[in-house]
Amino acid sequence: MTSRFDVAVVGAGIVGLSTARAIGFARPGLSIVILEKEEEIATHQTGRNSGVVHAGLYYRPGSLKARLCVEGGPRLLEFCDERGIDTTQAGKIVVATSASQLPALAELERRAGANGVRVVRVGPDEICEHEPEARGVEGLRVPFTGAVEFRDVARAFAEDLIRDGAEVRTGHGVLSSRSSSSGRILETVGGPIECSLVVNCAGLHVDRIARLLGTEPGVKVLPFRGEYWSLTPDAAARVRGHIYPVPDPRFPHLGVHFTRDVRGRVEIGPNAVWAWGREAYGRLSGNPRDALETLSYRGFWNLARRHWRTGLGEQWRSMSRAAFVRRARQLVPRLDARDLDQWRSGVRAQAVDTDGALIYDFLILQSPGVVNVINAPSPAATSCLSIGEHIAAIALEQL
Ligand SMILES: Cc1cc2nc3c(=O)[nH]c(=O)nc-3n(C[C@H](O)[C@H](O)[C@H](O)COP(=O)(O)OP(=O)(O)OC[C@H]3O[C@@H](n4cnc5c(N)ncnc54)[C@H](O)[C@@H]3O)c2cc1C
Repeated sequence: MTSRFDVAVVGAGIVGLSTARAIGFARPGLSIVILEKEEEIATHQTGRNSGVVHAGLYYRPGSLKARLCVEGGPRLLEFCDERGIDTTQAGKIVVATSASQLPALAELERRAGANGVRVVRVGPDEICEHEPEARGVEGLRVPFTGAVEFRDVARAFAEDLIRDGAEVRTGHGVLSSRSSSSGRILETVGGPIECSLVVNCAGLHVDRIARLLGTEPGVKVLPFRGEYWSLTPDAAARVRGHIYPVPDPRFPHLGVHFTRDVRGRVEIGPNAVWAWGREAYGRLSGNPRDALETLSYRGFWNLARRHWRTGLGEQWRSMSRAAFVRRARQLVPRLDARDLDQWRSGVRAQAVDTDGALIYDFLILQSPGVVNVINAPSPAATSCLSIGEHIAAIALEQL
């Protein structure tokens, strides 16, 4: 039996759920289904990230990332407050550990100003006052930064959707698509779904689903694993909030940092290592199809040619706990390998073009009857309420 809906959203991560919710709020009469391949919602990027509510100082002024993060962060904290979802707002400190990093720190300060994010320039003594274990030559204190469990936010979005009559169908991986008299039929593991509009929020698989829906995105999603170590409770007690390095401006990743989550656990990470599979969460795990697809992609080799040195360094720090600790010690010199407790990971979906350039901004492409969210890396979770409304507005124009 084919079920029929006005809108089908593929992917029950935080972006898909927020988009579906925003569509429903804007047009209450529409029938909406969210199709998720896993048996639960939010099991991939949304459930395996750093849980940081970003302030928005990193992002290029004028970019969607900057606008939607600065607008979305405070809205998210307010939403969590209303729904009884735990958050913290400990603030963070970005620490320059050598004079050579000062120009990059100044650029961050400039971006923060342009994006309307309050930061305070601090010297070595104030760094220690704020974070007694951190050492640096200068830093930026960012009062806004907070923490949340994004999976809880996704669950609250799903509750709203179900309350308002939408369906969240887990175990409904989308397999193929064909046109029908009134739109499109998606073949899923749980049966066919007919709809007028598809919004593709499939995260690590978004480019594949886009092709299946007839859009050539011109990029490929490459999976970059981010690995974390938590600190033992004794070591965690010495870190108050979030401690970040000055990021390498060539990459969208923020560099290995210290974060304190809503439960008080302190983690170091995430690094960024190429993964042998789009859902390869273990160091030795992989997927032959994914690996072959990446290895046969020109963009991967162009990226590797440009950044092989950084890539090898990250790989080494992934394999060697001592090397990982040495890097983290640049920020917190008293850290010891015995302070590390448990390991975990997440995989980032990063769109890369054929020249090997990492797509910087959020990227949404549309074709008749289809909206594809091709690139939604960090801070998409922080920005979830705003990015959901942004995508919904694009989608609603098609209906
Ligand atoms: C290591 C790491 C750290 C991060 N830290 C932060 C942070 O601190 N703050 C922040 O704001 N952001 C952070 N991010 C980014 C943030 O997690 C993502 O931007 C956000 O979760 C993206 O949400 P999504 O819904 O697009 O993707 P996902 O959460 O990956 O959801 C996509 C969904 O689509 C489903 N799907 C895929 N294929 C199909 C199919 N064929 N049929 C049906 N369903 C399908 C998947 O199962 C999945 O549930 C981090 C990400 C990572 C990986």
